Amino acid sequence: MSDEEPLVLLVEDEVQMRRFLRAALGSHGFRLVEAATAREAMQLATSHNPSLILLDLGLPDGDGIDLTRELREWCKAPIIVISARGAEQDKVTALDVGADDYLTKPFGTNELIARMRVSLRHAAQAGGTAAPSTLQVGELFVDFARHEVRVGDRDVKLTPTEFRLLALLARNAGKVLTHRQILTEIWGPAYASQSHYVRVHMAELRRKVEREPARPQMLLTEAGVGYRLRDRG
Ligand code: CA
Repeated sequence: MSDEEPLVLLVEDEVQMRRFLRAALGSHGFRLVEAATAREAMQLATSHNPSLILLDLGLPDGDGIDLTRELREWCKAPIIVISARGAEQDKVTALDVGADDYLTKPFGTNELIARMRVSLRHAAQAGGTAAPSTLQVGELFVDFARHEVRVGDRDVKLTPTEFRLLALLARNAGKVLTHRQILTEIWGPAYASQSHYVRVHMAELRRKVEREPARPQMLLTEAGVGYRLRDRG
């Protein structure tokens, strides 16, 4: 193993889950350090400077949400939350305090690795090169500077708000954004709880860019959480 392989900090108290993740990550070339408690997680994050953190929310000595908040004060590594089914509000709170994505148990290896690659790519972009001025995701093309949007050969006319909504999701392609994050970014912090604003504009955006707006292929709903633009490829 070389030092070039990304180092992942796995924070999980369930032995079986750790075994599954160890096998899954090892076979995809990730190095791994493991913590079973919030306290160990904090120590290892400090001593090992991981590239990415996989974090179970229910830990024996604390709460993954508090841990996320504390890590975010100094640690830039993407945090992917691993949550139990039904813990919707915890997952949303974790995203709002700085987690980058979440996976609901049980999940498959392919899903996990895809989410990790998206998070690592976004972290690399945030740390270095300028954001791209255009983006192609499947049939969707967005030119951020010119405010142009095409789906296949078709030009799409968007209102300024619809464009900002699409551009926000496109710049974060593959990453989930919560209702609160979208509202804060586009309408401002005073509107953070007005989820219906997002719903109304999302419906209109889908009508314009999706082939079948009722069965969106690009602008995906994350039930109870927010929205995600499908990642390229
Ligand atoms: Ca647990």
